[in-house]
Amino acid sequence: MTAPVYLDYNATAKVRPLAAAAVADALAEGGNPSSVHAAGRAARATVEAARRAVAALVGAAPETVTFTGGGTEANALAIRSAAADGARRILVSATEHDCVRAEAEATGLPVEIWPVDAHGLADLRWLSERVAADGRPLVCMMLANNETGVAQPMVDVGTITGEAGGWLHVDAVQAAGKIEIDFESMWARSLAISAHKLGGPQGVGALISEGPLTPQFHGGGQERGRRPGTENVPGIAGFGAAALAAVRDMAALTGQSAWRDALAARIVELGGVVLGDGAERLPQTLCVATPGFASELQVMALDLAGVMISAGAACSSGKVKASRVVEAMGRPDLAPFAVRISGGWATTRDDWRRCGEAWIEARHRQSKRIREFA
Ligand code: PLP
Repeated sequence: MTAPVYLDYNATAKVRPLAAAAVADALAEGGNPSSVHAAGRAARATVEAARRAVAALVGAAPETVTFTGGGTEANALAIRSAAADGARRILVSATEHDCVRAEAEATGLPVEIWPVDAHGLADLRWLSERVAADGRPLVCMMLANNETGVAQPMVDVGTITGEAGGWLHVDAVQAAGKIEIDFESMWARSLAISAHKLGGPQGVGALISEGPLTPQFHGGGQERGRRPGTENVPGIAGFGAAALAAVRDMAALTGQSAWRDALAARIVELGGVVLGDGAERLPQTLCVATPGFASELQVMALDLAGVMISAGAACSSGKVKASRVVEAMGRPDLAPFAVRISGGWATTRDDWRRCGEAWIEARHRQSKRIREFA
C-alpha cells in the first residue's frame, strides 16, 4: 500500500521530528521557568532559547516576543491592546482570517472592511483614504492568505498606516517559515505567528510587539506581564525547534513552487481557474476552482485516493461553507468549487504528482457521471 499524501499544511503542518524531540525533552526535563532552583533555571533557558529562535524567524528582537496559546490568541491580544491604546476604529482586510474579523467586531469599535482586487491584493488607495479619516485606526492585514497564499505589499501598508499614526497589526500565521519576514522593516506595531503552521506543536504561538501590550488575563507576571500564566514550556520548546528548522529549509520550500505550478497547469487544462496567480504567493499554496466540480466532491474523491487537501479554509471546510476569500476577490461564482492544496517541509515532488493523478482521475469520473445523467 502506498503512503497517504498530505497536502494540507496550511491547515496544520506535519510536526517536524526535531520539534517533537524538543517537546519530549522539555517534558522530561520538567521545571517551572519562574522557579529559582536548577530545574526552573533549565526550563527558563529552554524558553529563552526558543524566544531567540522565534525572533530570528521574523527579523525581530527577542524581547519583542510574547508567547501565546496560538495564532488566534496572538491576534486577539494585538487587537485588544490596540483598542486599549486608543484605537477608535478598525480597518480589516476582506480576506482576513475569521479570528481577526470576529475579534475586531467583538471589541465594539466600528469595523470597516477593506476591499481586495481580483488578485486578492489590498486596495492601497482605499487604505490611504480611510486611514486619514477621523479617529486613530487599527489596521489589520495578513501577510499571506491562508487559502490563496497571496502575499500583501506589507511595507507599503506599514508606511501608509505609520504616516497616519495608526497601529498596523500583521497576521503572519501563514507566512512565517514559508517566506522571509523582516518585522523591523514593516513599520508594523504587532505581528502574530503560530507554531503548528511551520512544523511545531498546536496550541502555541507568539505575538511580536514593538511596544506595551494589554494583558487579557491577570495574575502572574509571566511574559513580562503581557501574558500571565505558567508558560507552555514543551510547546514553546517545540516552536523554537520548528522555527530554526523552518529558516534552514526556506530555500527548499521556495523551490516547491515549480511542482505546484506543474499541478496547476494540469488542472487548468481540465477547466480549473487558479486564484491569486497574478500576485506574489506562498510557494507551496495552490487555490484552484473548477466550475461544476464542487469543492467537497474534490476533497472526498481525493481523500478516497489517499490524498488530503481542503476546501477553502480548514475551519470552513468542516462546515462546507463557500470561501469568503474567493468571494472577496470578486469571483463568488467560483467559491463553491475552490480547493486548497498546500505542501510543506516534508512534501516531495512525487506528492504533488500523485495529487495531480488523483485529481485528474476524479475529474474524469465526475465528467463521465455528468454525461451519463445528461
Ligand atoms: N491566522 C491565519 C491566517 C490562519 O490561517 C490561522 C489558522 O488557520 C490562524 C490565524 C489561527 O491560528 P491558530 O490555529 O494557531 O489559532
